[in-house]
Amino acid sequence: MRAINHQGMAKRLVQRLKELGINNEAVLEVIQRTPRQEFMPESLAHQAYENTALPIGNGQTISQPLIVAKMTSLLLESAPKRVLEIGTGSGYQTAVLAALVEQVFSVERIIQLQYQAQRRMKRLDFHNIAMRHGDGWQGWPSKAPFDGIIVTAAAARIPDALLEQLNPNGGRLIIPVGEQQQELLVVERQGEEFMQRSEGAVRFVPLVQGDLA
Ligand code: SAH
Repeated sequence: MRAINHQGMAKRLVQRLKELGINNEAVLEVIQRTPRQEFMPESLAHQAYENTALPIGNGQTISQPLIVAKMTSLLLESAPKRVLEIGTGSGYQTAVLAALVEQVFSVERIIQLQYQAQRRMKRLDFHNIAMRHGDGWQGWPSKAPFDGIIVTAAAARIPDALLEQLNPNGGRLIIPVGEQQQELLVVERQGEEFMQRSEGAVRFVPLVQGDLA
């Protein structure tokens, strides 16, 4: 069997992301050096640097690199230090964030995925990530406020808890909202005012309401 040339493929992926409009050099650099193959079943490793979402078990997916790059770039516009992620999944977006900000907190409702992601972070030697098995609709109140919150599953509406946990001084929420039709929203908080804009149509698995799995 031929060894897979991950480095060459990562370079080509980043080239593709540039062509698709991603221009934050720090984000592109981190995507180039983050080993995406480590965040998926081994049988899919040959597809790790394709610009697609891939299955990670439990009916969930690792997000498409383009969407990770886009959401991360939007979040970084406000230079956040403490960031909350809702929907850890594989932990890939978590790892990309952790290379770019001081501290990342991540919540996942499926215990198996949470456990696997936690093990990966240990193996990859990250020390600025805290993970929790919990319901993302509640955020992570004891660690609030957050300068940035990124939600990697589509919510039927914006969870109030996440708005409350945003830093009142320019905290920013990046969240796909909608059911059949979803759009990526950017919400910025100034005191008790929330300004909102759309970044276009997207496609995510749903942000589930109800009991943990
Ligand atoms: N960022 C992840 C995306 C995973 S898909 C990655 O790139 O791998 C979205 C994740 O959100 C899934 O793992 C799903 O289990 C999780 N999720 C769905 N509803 C949730 C909820 N209410 N609270 C926390 N996590 C949730």
